[in-house]
Amino acid sequence: MTAIDVRATEKLECDLVVVGGGAAGVASAVTAARNGLKVVLVERHGFAGGGAVAGHSGTICGLYEATDNSSAKPEQAVFGFTQEFVGLMEARGGLADPVRYGKTFTRVHDPIVWREVCDDLLAGAGVTVIYHAVATRVLAEGDHIEGIHVWTKQGPLDIRATVTVDASGDADLVAMAGLPNFIGDNGRVQNPTMIFRLMGVDVEVFRTAYGDDTIMPLDVTQMIIDGNTSGNYRLPRAKIWLFPTTRPDELLCNCTRVIGADGRELNPLFWRDFSEAEIEGRRQAREYARFFKDKLTGCATSFVNDMAVQVGVRQTRQVEGVAKLKNSDVVSGAKFADGIARSPWPIELHAGAKPKVEWLLNDVYEIPFGCFIPERGENLMVAGRCLSAEHEAVASARVTAQCFGYGHAIGHAAALRVKDGIAPRDINGADIRAILNRENAQLN
Ligand SMILES: Cc1cc2nc3c(=O)[nH]c(=O)nc-3n(C[C@H](O)[C@H](O)[C@H](O)COP(=O)(O)OP(=O)(O)OC[C@H]3O[C@@H](n4cnc5c(N)ncnc54)[C@H](O)[C@@H]3O)c2cc1C
Repeated sequence: MTAIDVRATEKLECDLVVVGGGAAGVASAVTAARNGLKVVLVERHGFAGGGAVAGHSGTICGLYEATDNSSAKPEQAVFGFTQEFVGLMEARGGLADPVRYGKTFTRVHDPIVWREVCDDLLAGAGVTVIYHAVATRVLAEGDHIEGIHVWTKQGPLDIRATVTVDASGDADLVAMAGLPNFIGDNGRVQNPTMIFRLMGVDVEVFRTAYGDDTIMPLDVTQMIIDGNTSGNYRLPRAKIWLFPTTRPDELLCNCTRVIGADGRELNPLFWRDFSEAEIEGRRQAREYARFFKDKLTGCATSFVNDMAVQVGVRQTRQVEGVAKLKNSDVVSGAKFADGIARSPWPIELHAGAKPKVEWLLNDVYEIPFGCFIPERGENLMVAGRCLSAEHEAVASARVTAQCFGYGHAIGHAAALRVKDGIAPRDINGADIRAILNRENAQLN
């Protein structure tokens, strides 16, 4: 038996092809196109936004410094492309004011507005967007990557490109090309979460009862533990986050812990795990919603009004880069001459019943350019959460404000490759840093 597809393969040519329309993919495609490159972006969903939209991640994390001073105002630490996106979301009413998240702040977004902002950004820069298309192979000559092969409903598509960016979140292209990569902590990844929205909530009453911190207080954790002990509920995560949103009477619920029937963290790289995660995620969302309606003040008339298009995937496969962000870099606030993005976000490790949060106070750490350049392989860069970073480091470095920053940097690197002929591994990250600073990244 032979696998066949008798349809003709259509051919496209461009300077840059980007796989993935998450924060990193959109920022890299828009930045490169603004530099005059002919850019194609391929996305398997029918909209951009990735984890933030399809996964309903809900907030833009990573904008503000953390502090022990509970009366401090939000101190913004990240600018550049991220700030441009924030401004566009604000202008359309798609971004709430900062809300407290433990020792820092975050901002809840509207995923419908997010899609529209991305559509306009991509169109405004002249990017050719191909939705409902899945990259299935890389075009390669030895270790030289020359584009991708794509599945579309119409038939196969070969997209030849001078430079290729893997912003798939899962380092799909890196794996297809056989370039060095790794998965989590010896194969163990953070658990996925199914996020949902609860409407019919009296948000003021809810806030009065539980306070302004979106990380729920210990008495809520205890109620969850008691609910499990009573045998009336099955709630595998006790420390949860609930966020009032841009819409009236609504809470965004980041509370599920999607684990397998055998109790292990599911890995969405495996088709069996991914499918089990979707079903279990929906079941858990219903169970938490039932618990909230029964037990939480202000939620007596609440109901589930929306659920993520897909279970939220925090961590899968990552590239082995010429540099690797270490756990110790995050907690020590490490800085690098070739740091192309900065982050004040804590390590937020979702494994076990209580996610671990480890804070970096009144400081930021930087992420070096080499984390996006594969150890081996030419003309391919990664952007986004599949960067080269240790297990706990990626539990910080993966959030949205930073992914925009990575894309901003990699879009400029692609422009240097195409316009000046500098191979990605020969690019000096300090030069990218200087360019980003000219575009308001405020890295110094
Ligand atoms: C449950 C959960 C909650 C989170 N909460 C927050 C939060 O509150 N705030 C925050 O800032 N961050 C949060 N995050 C993290 C954040 O959402 C992600 O880390 C971020 O979206 C990563 O951006 P990215 O661009 O690297 O990848 P992604 O957002 O994962 O985007 C990758 C894109 O590539 C596409 N793609 C993948 N493979 C292919 C392929 N082969 N062909 C075509 N397209 C492909 C996908 O469809 C997707 O759109 C959360 C994540 C999860 C899972």
